[in-house]
Amino acid sequence: MMKGECVCGEVKFTITGDTSQIIVCHCSTCRKATGAGGVPIIIASNQIFHWDSGVDSIRSWDAPVGEWTTNFCTVCGSPLPRANDADSMAIPAGLITLGGDDLKVEHHIYSSDKPAWEEFGDAGMVHPQAFGSGCSER
Ligand SMILES: [Zn+2]
Ligand SMILES: [Zn+2]
Repeated sequence: MMKGECVCGEVKFTITGDTSQIIVCHCSTCRKATGAGGVPIIIASNQIFHWDSGVDSIRSWDAPVGEWTTNFCTVCGSPLPRANDADSMAIPAGLITLGGDDLKVEHHIYSSDKPAWEEFGDAGMVHPQAFGSGCSER
């Protein structure tokens, strides 16, 4: 089980069940949305993801081009879990406050968009674009 929350604590959630994979997306949209070189994401099925509090403080923004949506806390601005597809959620891994000891970076996607200053120090596989785009083992 993992628990997580935004920086102000208004929005809280729980992931019941095990998941260990982190995917870091370095696309320019994810970078701008967070101010980071890449966003570490946990994918969890809807069956094991639960909002605990603060759902009224969640706002969504859809990028005008492409299929990209972010959820964020209207109080503190933290990025929040959002729908990955109809069956699963994409959860920013930095929000986790309890559990998650088995999490590790397994994939970097859109590495072609990463800033020059970011260096990968983990064993994750590097994909220049999305999955299946000529990935290389590191
Ligand atoms: Zn907040
Ligand atoms: Zn991205």
